[in-house]
Amino acid sequence: EAIIIAKGVHKRYDNDFHVLKGISLTVNKGEVVVLMGPSGSGKSTLIRTFNGLEPYQEGKIEIDGTEISHNQKGIELIRREVGMVFQQFNLFPHLTILKNVTLGPIHLKGLSQDDAEAQAMELLERVGIAPQANKYPGQLSGGQQQRVAIARALAMEPKVMLFDEPTSALDPEMVREVLDVMRKLAQSGMTMVCVTHEVGFAREVADRIIFLAEGELVTDTTPDKFFNNP
Ligand code: ADP
Ligand code: ADP
Repeated sequence: EAIIIAKGVHKRYDNDFHVLKGISLTVNKGEVVVLMGPSGSGKSTLIRTFNGLEPYQEGKIEIDGTEISHNQKGIELIRREVGMVFQQFNLFPHLTILKNVTLGPIHLKGLSQDDAEAQAMELLERVGIAPQANKYPGQLSGGQQQRVAIARALAMEPKVMLFDEPTSALDPEMVREVLDVMRKLAQSGMTMVCVTHEVGFAREVADRIIFLAEGELVTDTTPDKFFNNP
């Protein structure tokens, strides 16, 4: 059953650079798709179109039956359903870890403080950061902050999770702990689209590898086929 359907998506940046040249793809519920391709091929731009962060000029993108429309209301709706994790963790530095996670559910979903905190603690437990709940982002390692960013996105109970090079800003010894969290999330049945250069993750966790080059989708295949004959 399809949850992301993109058809003929074209995007040009304001300087007229044609970054996405007619991308069509479907992601099914529970699938893990890894997007690969050279730097500058449009991977980051493409996943940003999936949560309304990046407008596009032609084509159509539907998330679980709702077309992404570029009015403010449509974008707010999509952002609740599509969680995103960035290379730079993007936590609020002046808020505790717990508050970073409860903010969205309280303000955007109307959860009570108590319910939001109970949910947040459960999620922080899952990503191994419960003991740090009352610390501030600056007191955590990069790997820990990224796990908080994942918990924060999950707190909105998204239907889809997008990851844009989630381990690229991390010291090598912290990459594994973030990938382990992503692997568990994949095993729990979450639909995930990940831009990552982590070949081990792509091989072992992805259901499909999509390869972009110069704004075009050139390969959409299984990891076995992709890594045996690239
Ligand atoms: P990737 O994630 O595959 O590295 P990106 O989607 O980040 O690729 O970028 C694709 C291309 O679009 C790059 O050449 C980049 O420089 C260009 N680009 C990104 N953002 C902008 C922008 N705001 N204006 C113009 N060009 C941009
Ligand atoms: P990444 O590949 O990690 O996404 P980039 O270096 O492509 O990083 O882009 C970093 C930031 O700079 C992004 O916000 C992108 O939109 C912006 N950017 C990249 N290229 C251009 C460009 N040619 N003109 C304007 N903004 C750009």
